[in-house]
Amino acid sequence: MSNKHLGHTARKRFGQNFLHDDYIIDKIVSAIGPKNGQNLVEIGPGLGALTEPVAELVDHLTVVELDRDLAKRLREHPFIRNKLTVVEQDALKFNFSELVNDDASSNPHSGEKLRVFGNLPYNISTPLMFHLFEHCKHIADMHFMLQNEVVKRLCAASGDKLYGRLSVMAQYYCSAVPVVMVPPSAFKPAPKVDSAVVRLIPHQKPIVDVHSVDTLQSVVTTAFNQRRKTIRNSLRNLLDESQIVALDISPEIRAEKLTIAQFAKLANVVYENPKDVTSD
Ligand code: SAM
Repeated sequence: MSNKHLGHTARKRFGQNFLHDDYIIDKIVSAIGPKNGQNLVEIGPGLGALTEPVAELVDHLTVVELDRDLAKRLREHPFIRNKLTVVEQDALKFNFSELVNDDASSNPHSGEKLRVFGNLPYNISTPLMFHLFEHCKHIADMHFMLQNEVVKRLCAASGDKLYGRLSVMAQYYCSAVPVVMVPPSAFKPAPKVDSAVVRLIPHQKPIVDVHSVDTLQSVVTTAFNQRRKTIRNSLRNLLDESQIVALDISPEIRAEKLTIAQFAKLANVVYENPKDVTSD
């Protein structure tokens, strides 16, 4: 199949797979539910498959696009250019909080929290989500097209096969639910795997009390790096068995059985009693 769509040759390095199935596009736009007055931001608008139908429904939309040629096409778009603020930047480096409460911007809705959406380049989707989690207090919700496997990991509960580091850390920040399944044939060029759109809604208040997110991250990573081992073994460089037992958690279980609340408790003990791992 040709990699050319609407006169643009898809660039692999930018993870370009363009949506071209109107039925799927309609389903995704309905799931997002854009309304006038909202502070909407699209990451990776590309050739406008989602941008155009969203712009039909609202008076303003910010788009963040790294590809210079595609950003130029959007700035010169015959119908919707006046509704768009085009940010030609790497979304991984962009400070999304800039789009909120910026009186000087051309965005009439900068007083509102962000509603972020995008068909994300799969090669950067995980770091990009974690970059956005840092801006969570300014975000109302996010809708992202991802590999279906990644959506399943994001939404997995403790005990599920795909429950892991991504599930715990994403669910620490947000609730996550799959909203639209998307087959490879909906894209040009077609990717090799199924995709899905996930809805992420940042928690208004933290769901667990964590002294340090970095410590949570390192406990979760350490536990899942050796997911077949009991936590007595996988966490032995961070915690003694007696510290785990004192939290009413069995040292016999494996990482995949721990809830986020239990990970938070373990991380708080590690934070308060840092172990000198060099002495081990
Ligand atoms: N939204 C379009 C669609 O659904 O057809 C395009 C989706 S395509 C999978 C990903 C888009 O993200 C491309 O337009 C690509 O140029 C853009 N992109 C890739 N890396 C990016 C980055 N780091 N920051 C912003 N945009 C990026």
